[in-house]
Amino acid sequence: MGFDTLQDKLVHSLRKVQGKSQLSEKNMDDTLKEIRVALLEADVNYGVVKDFLNRIKEESIGQNVLNSVDPGQLLIKIVHDELVKLLGSDDTELKLKDNGLSVIMVVGLQGTGKTTQIAKIAKLLKEKRNKKVLMIAGDTIRMAAVDQLVTLGREIGVEVYRDDISKGTIKIVKDGLQYAKDGGFDVALVDTAGRLHIDEELMKELSDLKALIKPDEILLTVDALTGQDIVNVAKSFNDLLSVSGLIVTKFDGDSKGGGVLSVKAITSVPIKFTGVGEKVDDIEVFHPDRLAQRILGMGDVVTFVEKAQEQFDEKEAERSAKRFMSGKFTMDDLLKQLEATQKMGPIASLMKMIPGMGEMAKQMENTDADKQLIKVKAIIQSMTKEEREDPSIMRNSHKRRIASGSGTSINDVNRLLNQYERMKKMMKQMSSLRGGFPGLFG
Ligand code: GDP
Repeated sequence: MGFDTLQDKLVHSLRKVQGKSQLSEKNMDDTLKEIRVALLEADVNYGVVKDFLNRIKEESIGQNVLNSVDPGQLLIKIVHDELVKLLGSDDTELKLKDNGLSVIMVVGLQGTGKTTQIAKIAKLLKEKRNKKVLMIAGDTIRMAAVDQLVTLGREIGVEVYRDDISKGTIKIVKDGLQYAKDGGFDVALVDTAGRLHIDEELMKELSDLKALIKPDEILLTVDALTGQDIVNVAKSFNDLLSVSGLIVTKFDGDSKGGGVLSVKAITSVPIKFTGVGEKVDDIEVFHPDRLAQRILGMGDVVTFVEKAQEQFDEKEAERSAKRFMSGKFTMDDLLKQLEATQKMGPIASLMKMIPGMGEMAKQMENTDADKQLIKVKAIIQSMTKEEREDPSIMRNSHKRRIASGSGTSINDVNRLLNQYERMKKMMKQMSSLRGGFPGLFG
């Protein structure tokens, strides 16, 4: 299993700060240095390590202190989150057409496991997504590739299109795709010619093929065991072909992991699958968060901190609800509330927590909430401190300034002010209601 050494080192350095009541510049510095060494030893690209540590530093400084969490635990959570970001998004779904034939072109150097992964993906698509799949044997360079694909096809019950390799990849693939269309297939997986090294001839053939078949996905196989070289290979292929996803193969092997950790940051191409063995079932959809947890091996701490952070947000929300109820609700409070909205759900959902307020909450819910939210935030951010405290001081000239500062219109500003006034009125109603519900929000 790869990543073991990296995991040992990271866990060791993070344990050092766990349990400390304070995360000082000094003890954090030591830990970050150790993380740096661990990543570099695992063969992570130097520039990637540097950015990674900078982001961790920035994040740590900006963190709210939670009573229930010690700073070491918080640092583990931050490192975890940054690892997830480093490893990529959750954009692992293959983009297939709803109707008609989808084409997946698979490229890669010889021996990286291109042909094997095609069979693995074909099996996944057939069994998990109920697709009628055709594999096209377009690797005309490696002598055994065509027979290998046919054997695999038989094993998984997926048809293979093959022809005399002397016809060349382009002709075979073209005919194969016609066959797929005529036969009502949903997906064609196209094997292509690999080479031992990147050379111009290979690249020209692949880009000609791409232009001809206009694939929905271009997947590149890279071998985890080649370490940092993954990055160079991925970069070359991506520069020419705009690869849509990576399949990191031999992930079950003893790789140090650095190439895998660096490749997304440097190429921006997401890892979509990992190959974890030689058999046709040995493939996994890539989940950055799962790998991050495996590398850190501290899933329990991460979950714990997440929970604590959620509670913290709830406290914030409760505080602003209290201000809401007490009638001291300024534009700043509204802004804070709106910022929390992205996590918490709209003010309306806060109101739903209050007995009897459900109907009003419904009326406040806005289906176009996201766009509206951005606008409103921009308007409030363009107000001065005094205006936010007491919007009634605003004259038309102020409103004009705010509208132009926020890229909105005077109408938008007026609308927000009217809404704010309505909310204030509602607050009064709610305050009187509150008498009937003692104990709510204190
Ligand atoms: P191609 O030349 O790129 O088409 O490579 P192949 O598909 O023939 O694979 C090369 C070798 O790697 C074969 O022996 C495969 O069984 C092996 N292989 C492919 N994928 C994996 C994987 O995920 N893990 C392991 N351990 N071996 C793999």
